[in-house]
Amino acid sequence: MLFDLVQGYDEEKKAYLRWLWEQIIIFLAKEYDPKKIISFLSKCGVVSIDDKEKIVYIGVPNEFVLTQVKKFFHKGLNQAVEQCYNPHFKHKLAIYQVFQQSSNDLQVQCAKLLEVKESAKRIDNPLTPDTKQKLTDFFGILFEKNYTFDTFVVGESNKFAFSAAKAVAEKPWLVYNPLFLYGSVGLGKTHLMQAIGNFILTHHRDTVVAYLPATKLIDEIVYAIQKNKLSAFIKKLSEVDVLMIDDVQFLGDKEKTQEIFHNIFNEFVSQKKQIILTSDRPPKELNAIEARLKSRFSQGLVCDVKTPDFETRLAILKEKLQLKDEGFSGPHLEIIAKFVKENVRELEGALNLFLTQKKLLGKDLSEQDIYDGLKTLGFKISQDLKQLLEYDTMNTRSTKNFASIVEMVAQYYNIAIIDIKGDSRKKEHSQSRQLLMYLAKKHFNRTLEKIGDYFGGKDHATVIYAINKFDKLLKTNPKLQQDLAVFTGALEQ
Ligand code: ADP
Ligand code: MG
Repeated sequence: MLFDLVQGYDEEKKAYLRWLWEQIIIFLAKEYDPKKIISFLSKCGVVSIDDKEKIVYIGVPNEFVLTQVKKFFHKGLNQAVEQCYNPHFKHKLAIYQVFQQSSNDLQVQCAKLLEVKESAKRIDNPLTPDTKQKLTDFFGILFEKNYTFDTFVVGESNKFAFSAAKAVAEKPWLVYNPLFLYGSVGLGKTHLMQAIGNFILTHHRDTVVAYLPATKLIDEIVYAIQKNKLSAFIKKLSEVDVLMIDDVQFLGDKEKTQEIFHNIFNEFVSQKKQIILTSDRPPKELNAIEARLKSRFSQGLVCDVKTPDFETRLAILKEKLQLKDEGFSGPHLEIIAKFVKENVRELEGALNLFLTQKKLLGKDLSEQDIYDGLKTLGFKISQDLKQLLEYDTMNTRSTKNFASIVEMVAQYYNIAIIDIKGDSRKKEHSQSRQLLMYLAKKHFNRTLEKIGDYFGGKDHATVIYAINKFDKLLKTNPKLQQDLAVFTGALEQ
């Protein structure tokens, strides 16, 4: 019956079971005499795994071996299964006659494997540059030299992730394991992860860092299984001290890879070796990833990288510009930072586009060129905001521009900008409109005419009336005073 069971396995499954058995043998070799292992276990192997009963079945060739294995290895095998597979699983022995043949699909070469283990011990010695180079060749370490902590702009949106990454880079193994960074696309996760890698390469020279996009990890594992080289792959990984897997969401639905990665993960953590992961969402939302792996992902430090605010976006543009060593005016950058909001990669893309245009045209770009370029890239540029920006870039007193205050007020009261700017007489709309007119006058020094234009072409008198009305209301309304303080506070930041 067992025979039929194994015949139905595909190559991937057999390779996985062989790999698990290798891990078990290597584990046992820490405690047992290798000669004993070779005598009794070289003709055995993992035959099947019963997830319901939580049992790993180990096939043995006959009654005699069964008795011996039970006698010598019962406790060790249970510990090995707990460590190498799953802490909730036990082992059971089953006679499986195919193991009487000289070789079969589930058997591994114990003698060879234990030699492997001997050489793996040498990792404790400092690595020679040669070994490090070989590993680099093997994993193809892809560190982008510009992705460093120095070139990463820190703002409210990313300061948590930044300091965690810095702490891990300074003391890998000691702080958080794993470090899990998540956030939507283009917000700097890969940059931060590679900054850790670059830092380690220069500051901890003996430490081996491997950076693998999750897609590469999957490819490596599938390839290794096909070529029957899984144990060689795992061995290479065991020489790594800091393992980085980028975009782990791509492991979703890749069950075999997840199982193998789970074991790699446990091995790293139990040896106090650092793991760093990134993902586009937090661990608990990784629906296509098995629960035990998700829970491992959250057991260290989980931090998010959010969308940067206007000031951070502007600082990022300045940083990128400096790397490219080209002149570009402040107001131009402000316009780009204002409209390209969601994604730093797009922000950089827009900047590059304008730099190329500038080069091709052989002259400085006008602000109109920037607006046109942004439109071509698909960003919505409203005429009102454009006018206001032109004004704000001249207004050096305030770091925040008026448009961002309008957005803030709309968000704060949960109303649409269009209603604030229109003619709606609903109290929350008209009061917000009055508040903004008041701010435009008092804090932005706008002319009454300009204010009227912005709020849907209202005349001079309407604006004065609104501002005076708000002024009066303010004196008797503490809630309004509080609200106003929030907005003026933001202006001063
Ligand atoms: P993610 O991995 O989150 O999709 P990346 O790390 O690839 O994003 O970032 C996209 C681009 O934006 C990169 O060129 C990166 O250097 C840049 N970037 C993102 N955030 C920052 C930041 N805070 N400072 C400087 N550059 C940043
Ligand atoms: Mg990335």
